[in-house]
Amino acid sequence: MRSDLVATIRRSLFESSPIEVFLGLGSNVGNRQGHIDQALAQLDTENQIRIDSISSIIETSPIGWADQPQFLNGVVKIETALSPFDLLQTIKHIEIQVGRKKRRRWGPREIDLDILIYGDLVLEHPQLTIPHPEMIHRRFVLEPFSEIQPDFVHPTQNRTIRQLLLQLPDDAVSLTKPLVQTKVSTD
Ligand code: ADP
Ligand code: MG
Repeated sequence: MRSDLVATIRRSLFESSPIEVFLGLGSNVGNRQGHIDQALAQLDTENQIRIDSISSIIETSPIGWADQPQFLNGVVKIETALSPFDLLQTIKHIEIQVGRKKRRRWGPREIDLDILIYGDLVLEHPQLTIPHPEMIHRRFVLEPFSEIQPDFVHPTQNRTIRQLLLQLPDDAVSLTKPLVQTKVSTD
C-alpha cells in the first residue's frame, strides 16, 4: 500500500480512536529529573503519541534492592494509536536514548518507563503484562496516578485508582517528599 495512504489511515485511526494509556516514570541514577524530562520530551516527539497530562514527580524509597539511591517517580497519561507491542518497543528505545545502561533487575536505572494501563486491555504475554502487575501494590504509582485521574477504574480490580490507593496497607512503599512539577508543557 502507498505509504502516504498508510499514513492517512493511521492518522484517522489515531484521531477517531486513540487509546488512553498511563505510563510509569522512574529514575534513580545521575540527573534524575533531567532523565525524566528527556523521556517526556522524546515521547512528545513521537507522531503516534500525544501527551495528555503529567503528574507531579515525587521522591520515593527503593524497593527490591534497598541499597540504592532514592527514586524520582511519576505517571504520564498519553493518547496513542500504537499497538501495545509497538508502544513497548518505543518506550524501550526511549530508555536507551535517555541513556539507560543494562544492570541487574530491580537495580538502579537512569530511566524506567513502564506501561501501567492500556485502555481496558488485559494482556498476559511473556514480554508484556497489562495492566502492570505491580501497580496496585505501589504507592509511588498509585499516588501520582490518582493525581491525574483518581476515578479511573482498574480493568481487573474493578476499583478506582483512588480506592486502590486508600486500601494500600500502611507499610506499602512510602514516599519521602513531593517534588517539583516537570518542565515539559502538554499544550
Ligand atoms: P522492570 O521495569 O520490571 O523493573 P525492566 O524495565 O528492565 O524491568 O523491564 C523488563 C521487561 O519487562 C521488559 O523488557 C518488558 O518486556 C517486560 N514487561 C512486561 N510487562 C511490562 C509492562 N507493562 N511495561 C513495561 N515492560 C514490561
Ligand atoms: Mg521497566
